Amino acid sequence: MSEIRNIIIVGGGTAGFMTAASLLNSYAKANIKITLVESSKIGTIGVGEATIPTIRAFYNELGISDPEIIAKTGATAKLGIQFNGWKNKDSSFIHPFGGFGHDFNNVGFWHYLNAYSPEILDGGLDDLALGAALAKAGKFALPDPIKNTTPIYARFDWALHIDAGLFAKALKEYSLAKGLNYIDAKIENVELEQENGFIKSIILEGGKSLEADLFIDCSGFEALLIGKALGNEFESYEKYLLTNAAWAMPSQKIENPIALTKVTAHSAGWQWQIPLNHRTGNGHVFARDFINDNDALKTLERNLPSEKLDDARLIKFTPGRRKAWDKNCIAIGLSGGFLEPLESTAIALIQNGIDRLKMFFPFDGIDEKIIKEHNRIAQKEFERVRDFIILHYKLNQRGDSEFWRYVAQMEIPDTLSEKIELYKKRGHFVRYSWEMFHHISWLAMYSGFGILPQNHEPLVENMGRENFEDARSQINSDIQNIVSRAPSHAQFINHCNEIVG
Ligand SMILES: Cc1cc2nc3c(=O)[nH]c(=O)nc-3n(C[C@H](O)[C@H](O)[C@H](O)COP(=O)(O)OP(=O)(O)OC[C@H]3O[C@@H](n4cnc5c(N)ncnc54)[C@H](O)[C@@H]3O)c2cc1C
Repeated sequence: MSEIRNIIIVGGGTAGFMTAASLLNSYAKANIKITLVESSKIGTIGVGEATIPTIRAFYNELGISDPEIIAKTGATAKLGIQFNGWKNKDSSFIHPFGGFGHDFNNVGFWHYLNAYSPEILDGGLDDLALGAALAKAGKFALPDPIKNTTPIYARFDWALHIDAGLFAKALKEYSLAKGLNYIDAKIENVELEQENGFIKSIILEGGKSLEADLFIDCSGFEALLIGKALGNEFESYEKYLLTNAAWAMPSQKIENPIALTKVTAHSAGWQWQIPLNHRTGNGHVFARDFINDNDALKTLERNLPSEKLDDARLIKFTPGRRKAWDKNCIAIGLSGGFLEPLESTAIALIQNGIDRLKMFFPFDGIDEKIIKEHNRIAQKEFERVRDFIILHYKLNQRGDSEFWRYVAQMEIPDTLSEKIELYKKRGHFVRYSWEMFHHISWLAMYSGFGILPQNHEPLVENMGRENFEDARSQINSDIQNIVSRAPSHAQFINHCNEIVG
């Protein structure tokens, strides 16, 4: 195969325009032509509004600042996710973007809690994470920038809640300004090379044919190229992830929203609440084997935080994935797979897919060995996120509906059961390669679900109970001081909008 000089991106959703913007920015001087084809008649999925902190590195690399993206996408800040009713009906805990407390003598903070204050480790960590404490108080402050010299409790990260449509629009404007060749047309057919099965061209409505060296499939659940044209089979995760549909419905803006995505468990799934500056995104993700579509919709309508702005839309999906790269086609976004939106990982997986494409970019032609390595990493990354999400269901102790009883008992992958066992033994974390979530995220889950290690880490004794208790109350009061001085979340967002104008 010859040099890659001509790329076609199929699809203009979040995946398509993130890919276009990033490639145009990185390869501005590489003499590569980039075309994006989408059908505005088909439209995009229109959800995907909660992110994780890596999104900021993505648009910062494009030269777009935080205030700019906040102003352009009606965004609010996100310091983590608040899980309501997951362990049991009355429970609530936060998975923040940042650490808890402070490690001492190279021994994790949680080991001290386990030995000396297990009642805190049992679901009481929120006040020991600055990000979580700020969010609960309706506040927001930027993290201390001198990361290496500040104690861990002053270090946290943040992400955004974005309007998906406005985000894609901002990236489209950026891409057009960078020279994107943009075509609005429906793709009717895909033509393959006879000798090797590579994609030769896409055929648009009206019969026009477009050829390229490399095709990026961002066509969403349609998987027009990687699935339909090349026949890559879909590997389903339905055995472990039972939710397979969502009702999505926007409602009025909430005044002074907290900087958290709220996820509230219901009888056969859960509801998201994503605050934007101009509206609230809501959705009920549910398992169709356990609740019918009508009842799932009623549950969402009953639990809206504000007056509805539009009718609900039903989105059906199957959790799972496909081979990410086959021949001269790479899938990025929903065409390559989807888990479920609980930990807001899909846009982050798009970002990783783009980074991986650039890392392995086949400038000099396509090489099977590179494809194999690329796909190995993509698969591992997907499976790691899958395991983390399964954990959220497996650890529940609700017992109040067939769904929650089923998922608490279900079989889980060995890679996950090993992790849970090791933590239960003496609070140790397993970190495999290509993990998206650090041990702190796993700790947030174990704590929130009330899973405590059975044995203490003996190294904590070097510090001792009294010294630890003093240090912990100092951390608590430092966090309270910072929170009391911080501006409100609404003030921060207004400030960003004002400076952009
Ligand atoms: C219920 C739900 C909630 C979600 N919530 C989150 C979240 O909070 N956070 C997060 O990170 N992710 C979330 N996601 C995932 C997120 O929405 C997607 O990863 C993201 O929007 C990217 O989608 P996409 O660009 O791959 O597909 P789409 O947005 O579906 O775009 C597909 C594109 O392909 C085009 N296309 C398709 N067929 C053709 C054709 N024949 N001819 C021409 N063009 C065509 C369409 O016009 C469109 O432009 C959620 C997903 C679901 C289902």
